[in-house]
Amino acid sequence: MAVRDEKQYWDEALETQPRARWEEMKLALLKAHLRHAYLNSPYYRNSFDQAGVHPDQLHALDDLRRFPFIDKRILRDRQLAVPPFGDLVAVPERDIVYISASSGSTGVPTASPFTAGDFDDWMDYEARQFWSSGLRPEDRYCHSLNFSLFVGGPCVLGAQKLGALSIHAGTVPSERLLAIIRQFQATAIWTTPSYAWYLGETAEKEGIDIRRDLNIRRIFVAGEPGGSIPETRRRIEALWGASVYDYYGLSDIFGACAGMCEEKDGLHWAEDHILVEVLDPESGIPVAEGERGEMVLTTLRKTARPMIRFRTGDIVSFASGPCRCGRTSQRLMGVHGRLDDMLIIKGVNLFPSDVEAIARQDHDLTGEYKLVVTREAQLDALTVELERSHAYQGGNEALAQRFQRQLKSVSGVSARVSILPPGALPRATHKARRIEDRRGGVWS
Ligand SMILES: [Zn+2]
Repeated sequence: MAVRDEKQYWDEALETQPRARWEEMKLALLKAHLRHAYLNSPYYRNSFDQAGVHPDQLHALDDLRRFPFIDKRILRDRQLAVPPFGDLVAVPERDIVYISASSGSTGVPTASPFTAGDFDDWMDYEARQFWSSGLRPEDRYCHSLNFSLFVGGPCVLGAQKLGALSIHAGTVPSERLLAIIRQFQATAIWTTPSYAWYLGETAEKEGIDIRRDLNIRRIFVAGEPGGSIPETRRRIEALWGASVYDYYGLSDIFGACAGMCEEKDGLHWAEDHILVEVLDPESGIPVAEGERGEMVLTTLRKTARPMIRFRTGDIVSFASGPCRCGRTSQRLMGVHGRLDDMLIIKGVNLFPSDVEAIARQDHDLTGEYKLVVTREAQLDALTVELERSHAYQGGNEALAQRFQRQLKSVSGVSARVSILPPGALPRATHKARRIEDRRGGVWS
């Protein structure tokens, strides 16, 4: 019987290698991966030919910029044209052993196929990531994410591979989950940030003393922006007396593309599996280190369906300086919002989610809001329309000034604030239209 090497998921030579070595490694992987895509996927062969590019023309990582983008719409269209997985697939169907699928909240769910080798690569990375967050074979790990086609489901196998006792709890009612955590004295769980908060509150309501009756020391979170907001993490940490680690995954790539090490200074990226570009969404030119830009991803090893220059629509920032933990991989420093939603007010990026976060915290407001952008004397101006709540008895001016101050301190944007009676703003039955742009030109 093989003896498990407890250090096998801390590969010091790889994880602390100089940046130049990472770049060489990615270039070698990328050359082989582009060739695989071109030779085996009808879609990529056609798309590269049409763009007049060939994998043999890639001599440096920058040469990737000559290759065409793909996006969610292309994935969906090709899947409908060539069911069930589309012609980006680059292996015979008999080699596909697993699929995840997106929720389909923005249309037809797109399926992401894996070969057995792809799946093993993913779990190896998952185990390495868990190790970096302090999970050890002595831990009892409770996985309470959805197993139904959701790419976060199989991540439990990464903890199992590392040697932790792995409890496949799934999404069960909170009382049942608390009973499982208590019975097996789980030391770590994975859930969403909002559920971690809810579960802690439920435990207290049920008379469970979280620190005495339970043994949770680590909480992994993903799937919501809250995990990357330090205040949200600190609130959950205080409630549970545990350490919170944010993870980032993407159904069309794999479960945990990045996760926090014990230093919690950004999320270490799976750099030997996925190449990142952070681009100005309009010009397609890379932004400076640390600046916000659209995240464009290229797989380096995933053979079943290579993803070459996938536009995620996520506005992110990255750092590539060394981390205090010794790892030298790039770190995802923040997911700031969706490209579709970004406004630029006097040179400052603003996402409706920034406004929403403040509006939802203030109980004197209904939480409904609208952003009106105008142009006055060559400058963009923003008016935020809000509704006071039924219960609020104070004056509109005080409420408006409070919101203005909060928005300025959170986002750096100065706005006019208009307080309306409750029910004055239109309610949308599907995705709400929150922005009205009266500037004309590119935004209209
Ligand atoms: Zn680190």
